Amino acid sequence: MARYTDSVCRLCRREGMKLYLKSERCETPKCAIDKRPYPPGQHGQGRSKPSEYGIQLREKQKVRRIYGILEGQFRKYFKTADRRKGVTGELLLQLLETRLDNVVYRMGLAGSRNAARQLVRHRFFTVNGRRVNVPSYVVKKGDTIGMAKGKESKAPMKSALEAIKGKTLPSWLAFDADKNEGLIQALPAREDITLPIQEQLIVELYSR
Ligand code: SF4
Repeated sequence: MARYTDSVCRLCRREGMKLYLKSERCETPKCAIDKRPYPPGQHGQGRSKPSEYGIQLREKQKVRRIYGILEGQFRKYFKTADRRKGVTGELLLQLLETRLDNVVYRMGLAGSRNAARQLVRHRFFTVNGRRVNVPSYVVKKGDTIGMAKGKESKAPMKSALEAIKGKTLPSWLAFDADKNEGLIQALPAREDITLPIQEQLIVELYSR
């Protein structure tokens, strides 16, 4: 499967904000956006005012990069959201939030969505007791996310399970530390998604 392999910090610099793509480093002075807060490339410091289309495009790229999704798949999410009843932009964000890799990240079981994706691919998690290794798997209300047998003792899980104690989770998620099991209490509402996203701009872009 195709995936982005260049420096992820360039993506943050391009979008002009921290997208938190690299676990701990994002909170340290080593963060590239703190050191070089301008777009990458030869003309990074000399760009002119963006057009309306440019603003909409940047918003879409930002969301795509936050969730680590390629263009084709992102467009499919948009089409799915557009077909459903409700506010398209909000449904799009809800679909992205309920991806298994995002849920693992939101529960604090991985330091970034990239790390979460890798753990899912390596069959670390179960959904309702069955192993799932598809990062784009969409969870539903009432689903339980558990650790696959033998994975709790692996290094990345051990530290994550330690760190999760005392962590405040989004209200739509819960984690039972005794059972090492997470629960999707509800589907995320717009107010649960606190990322600085203007989803209406994406809807306008795809409606052109
Ligand atoms: Fe983005 Fe994190 Fe890199 Fe900073 S360290 S530029 S937040 S990925």
